[in-house]
Parts: sequence; C-alpha cells; structure tokens
Amino acid sequence: MKTYTNKLEEVVLNTRELSVSFEFFPPKTDEMEEQLWKAISKLKSLKPNFVSVTYGAGGSTRERTHHTIKRIIDETDLKPASHLTCIAASKEEINEILRNYWKIGVRHIVALRGDMPASSPNYQLRKDGYQYASELVEGIKKIADFEISVAGYPEKHPEAKNIDEDIDYLKRKVDAGASRIITQFFFDADVYFSFVEKCRKRGINVPIVPGILPVTNVKQTKHFAKMCGAKIPKWMDQIFENLDEKQETRHLIAGIVATELCRILHNGGVNDFHFYTLNRAELTSAICHVLGVR
Ligand SMILES: Cc1cc2nc3c(=O)[nH]c(=O)nc-3n(C[C@H](O)[C@H](O)[C@H](O)COP(=O)(O)OP(=O)(O)OC[C@H]3O[C@@H](n4cnc5c(N)ncnc54)[C@H](O)[C@@H]3O)c2cc1C
Repeated sequence: MKTYTNKLEEVVLNTRELSVSFEFFPPKTDEMEEQLWKAISKLKSLKPNFVSVTYGAGGSTRERTHHTIKRIIDETDLKPASHLTCIAASKEEINEILRNYWKIGVRHIVALRGDMPASSPNYQLRKDGYQYASELVEGIKKIADFEISVAGYPEKHPEAKNIDEDIDYLKRKVDAGASRIITQFFFDADVYFSFVEKCRKRGINVPIVPGILPVTNVKQTKHFAKMCGAKIPKWMDQIFENLDEKQETRHLIAGIVATELCRILHNGGVNDFHFYTLNRAELTSAICHVLGVR
C-alpha cells in the first residue's frame, strides 16, 4: 500500500478546495451552553459544509439535542445535521422525531443505532424498533428526503466479527440511502486509507469523511477508544507523557498531532474533514487554518 508522507509546505501551498464539518454535543448546563455558543460563533466563519449535534443513545439528550438544533436554525445560517440513534425506541417514536425535525427545517440526519447499554450485556434489541442503522436509514427515507450520513469504523465496530462483515453492513446503510460515511476517530492515517480501499473494493462509492479528534486529554480519549474499538498508538502515550498538569503544552502538542494526521490525509487526497470539536473552537480552527480553511 502507498504511504503519504510529504512536507507541511505541500499542504500550505496546495490550494485545493476543502470542505469541513464540525460536531458538537448538546450542553447540560448554562455554562456549557455558553462555551458551545462561543465555539459555534468562532467556527461559523470557516463556512462549514454542515454542523452536527450528537444524540444520546436511548434518547437521553432528546430535548437538549432538539434545543441546540433549533437554536442553530434560528440564530445562524449554518446547516444543521441532527444525530439520531434508534436503540431503545419504537419505530413510531423515531418517526415522530423525524417528522418534527423536517417541520422545523432539519434536512440532514446522522443515522445511528447507538451503543448497547453497558449495564445490560444481554440487551435485546426492541422488536418494534429499527434494529440496525441500515433499517433506520430505510425508515428515514420513507418519512422525507433527508440527506443521510452514517458511521464507519476504520478499526471495525467492536461488536463486528471482522472488518469485512462490518463493511458488508456498512454497504447496507449506503444501499438504503446514506450519501456520506463519517468515520470513528483514528490516529494512524494508514488505517483510514486501508479502510477506504476495502470499502471501494466492496462497491461503496460515497464519500468516506475522516472523523478527526484533536486529543487534549489522553486519559479520557483512552476511555472513549476502549468503548468504540479505536486504537491509541504507543507514541501517543509517550508524546503526552508527564503533561497532565501542563495544560498549555498539552494543547500545543494536541494541535501538532492532529495537524500532522490531517496533513498526511490531505497529501493522500482527502478533501473532506469532520471534526469532533468537543464544543471547543481553538484546536479545530488552528488545524483548519493550516489546511487553508480560513
Ligand atoms: C460519526 C459518528 C457519530 C456518532 N454519533 C453518535 C451519537 O450522536 N450518539 C450516540 O449514542 N452514538 C454515536 N455514535 C456511536 C454509535 O452509536 C455506536 O458506535 C453504535 O454502537 C453503532 O452505531 P451504528 O450506527 O454504527 O450501528 P450499525 O451500523 O447498526 O452497526 C452496529 C453493529 O451491528 C452490526 N450490524 C449492522 N447491521 C447488522 C445486521 N443486519 N445484522 C447483524 N449485525 C449487524 C455492525 O457490524 C456493527 O457491529 C457515533 C459514531 C460515529 C462514528
């Protein structure tokens, strides 16, 4: 397989049109709401393709996600994409949410099944619900002609037996009507390129947009990574070693690490990037700046 290791200079001097999108989570408190809106105000000038708002599996953030989406529609000219998970809900409950989103002007859904509850290892999917994200995609298309993005896992979804089986199920989501795949975060660009190659061989032809997580807190990222099957390379531990109390240095290094990943992806021909912002603007806007999105 080809590797793509060229100079930063090539990214800065290469003026390809890039498209970026930003992911936020619905805030729990007034203070967090203020932080989110500071981030949105700063990032909106980068003219993202869309901004998405996550949705707690089982509907735990239903009202807060809706509130954030509504504010984005009412107070900005950004295009919102609402994440929607179908686990633990009936089809009718999900359909009602979708009809309501369409009514208020949402035209893009990030369609997800959601995680199995960690507390119930033998959890049975609801018979009256959408069982998998592919069924949800089919259901969404019956409600209205939403644009639909779905999740892809370069290092395989933790429940899947192997990557080929996972990609077969991913193809079902695309065949059902999804027009974009957004990946789980990863830290090794070759893992992404190899995933894209496998998807293309399997006949998946929609854009596969890398999900970029600028890491400032390795401990927390390790926790996420364990749940979602992403690998944290050894060098990440080493580069952040002894920086727990040194926030400024940690943030600078986080910027370098994420920019380096984007640079390699960019050199490998990637034109679309989805940023997991964690409701903070600084790192994402710095990386976008290097990529020429200003
Ligand atoms: C970009 C992105 C955004 C996300 N946003 C959120 C969010 O807002 N809220 C949230 O709670 N979680 C979110 N997640 C996490 C996601 O909900 C979990 O990873 C969840 O466990 C799987 O969701 P999915 O949509 O990928 O499921 P699916 O595509 O349904 O796949 C789930 C598992 O089932 C397998 N599978 C699929 N179809 C079948 C079938 N027909 N028969 C047997 N097995 C099958 C797959 O191989 C996989 O192992 C996000 C993930 C990503 C990458």
